[in-house]
Amino acid sequence: MLLAHFPRVFLAHLPTPLEKMDRLSKELGGPEVWIKRDDCTGVSTGGNKTRKLEFVFGEALAAGCDTVITQGATQSNHARQTAAFAAKLGLQCHILLEDRTGSNADDYNNSGNVLLDHLHGATTTKFAGGTDMPAEMEAAAERLRAKGHKVATIPGGASNPTGALGYVNCAFELIGQLNDRGMVIDHLVHATGSAGTQAGLITGIKAANAGISLLGIGTRSPKAKQEENVFKLAQLTAEKLGAPGVVTREDVVANTDYVGDGYGIPTESGLEAIAMFAELEGILLDPVYSAKGAAGLIDLIRKGHFKKGERIVFLHTGGSVGLFGYTGSFDHGARQVAQVG
Ligand SMILES: *Cc1c(COP(=O)(O)O)cnc(C)c1O
Repeated sequence: MLLAHFPRVFLAHLPTPLEKMDRLSKELGGPEVWIKRDDCTGVSTGGNKTRKLEFVFGEALAAGCDTVITQGATQSNHARQTAAFAAKLGLQCHILLEDRTGSNADDYNNSGNVLLDHLHGATTTKFAGGTDMPAEMEAAAERLRAKGHKVATIPGGASNPTGALGYVNCAFELIGQLNDRGMVIDHLVHATGSAGTQAGLITGIKAANAGISLLGIGTRSPKAKQEENVFKLAQLTAEKLGAPGVVTREDVVANTDYVGDGYGIPTESGLEAIAMFAELEGILLDPVYSAKGAAGLIDLIRKGHFKKGERIVFLHTGGSVGLFGYTGSFDHGARQVAQVG
């Protein structure tokens, strides 16, 4: 089905660039590695939630909503992009933030994405780790409805079949870019969390029969749970798109070896990936998602899982604003502070 059948607010800067990473490819000495810059989607420093929110806000506006509520971790990129959309469209935005890391650091709790949530005029309310956030969100929505508001609740990560349409769109966009350049790729790799990105991508890839293998690198859940979440959402997305059954369970592959100690807790391999992308390509990753995704990509190249002669696209899902919530994880460029000359 044409994506044009679905209500959508066109705010993202699309298409995002598809660029070759020459220096990183050379350093790793394996396959040719490209990057699809969904960190450059435009809205409030960009990121992958923007594509999903185009469809989610399209639906909310069609329903006549004046208020949105969403939830996420303290340094949620999704919350920040939702706050920016709401600001642009003149809707009230309330954000429920779950303390998933237990960090007391001032920057984690007040800078990065949290700073931007507030700049966009959203309210934020904090909850302890392990809170039933969807239930809290529904309760808050009911309180606002009782006051006469027309409220849309947006799930964490905007990961429902409507949001996933944004990544069906991304798959179609990437396929178009590849066809325009006469360029074949073997693998598409990205960080996976609340599952909407991978679910949308696999639905688009399969609906177009593009023959690209998709690998999600996990950032939170164990493999079986992550793959099950993606598969369930992909099935619903395919139905919504009018292509029921197009995704099989075997199409959904997640590698969760790079999560480390848990969601939102930086890893050594992730910090190495941040340094490599920054120093070799001038590209900023984030410690929660894209760095762990890139750490998986780098390790799987070093192990020979991805081979010389193959061509890989890494989907950069954004999040670099989160770096400013994690300054304690870095040496503040101490190596670079020196007398010049
Ligand atoms: C949310 C997010 C992801 C994960 O995408 P999902 O659709 O939630 O699986 C990856 N990278 C960044 C930077 C994100 O903010």
